[in-house]
Amino acid sequence: MSITADLTRLVFGLSVGIILPRIPLLFFTRFLNLERDLPPHPDPIPIGVPLIQRLLLMRRVHTMCWMIALLPMLLGYFILKSSPEPFAVGLVAGGSWFILSRIVPLHMGSGFGILPLSLIQEINNLREPETRCCEHQQLQWEVRSIRCNHCRDVAKDTPRPDLGRIRSDGRLMGTLRILLMDGHSVFPPNEDSVIGQGVELLGQVAEEE
Ligand SMILES: [Zn+2]
Repeated sequence: MSITADLTRLVFGLSVGIILPRIPLLFFTRFLNLERDLPPHPDPIPIGVPLIQRLLLMRRVHTMCWMIALLPMLLGYFILKSSPEPFAVGLVAGGSWFILSRIVPLHMGSGFGILPLSLIQEINNLREPETRCCEHQQLQWEVRSIRCNHCRDVAKDTPRPDLGRIRSDGRLMGTLRILLMDGHSVFPPNEDSVIGQGVELLGQVAEEE
């Protein structure tokens, strides 16, 4: 068999292995019209019960992705046991990539997975915060952090992950972005990122001048 045919089958298997586990993340909430209680993308989401429910639902969707990731892995493994088929190598490599992307944390100190329970718990606590930033506190999750809509005080410095809303950047771009980012925010977490530190340094320099 020619190398081109082998390569095509490898790439096809790889694509299936990469896309298949992410299908729930791409379509599940977006096609079931579950937008009722949430403002449209990319508007900020108020900290409240609908947000917590959505976070828990997204956690379940991520778990579903894990279960679906096992399909190409197992299928590839069984094919490889009988013959060295490039398509099967692609399947296993794609599935392994999914698993690696989930178990390696993006930054130190974060919990396991894209939506760790500890994060949901912290956001749930913000529904009834111990300290208030101002009299008319109105916390909402913006693209880069959770802030008060009234006094702009930052309550939590966590960029907003994908929450399964129908994306404003169109179906194709939205799908591509989720495939590339896996539901993570495109913005790095502020506290320990190089960009965050750079912004902080710039702020200090500006203050000194
Ligand atoms: Zn406030």
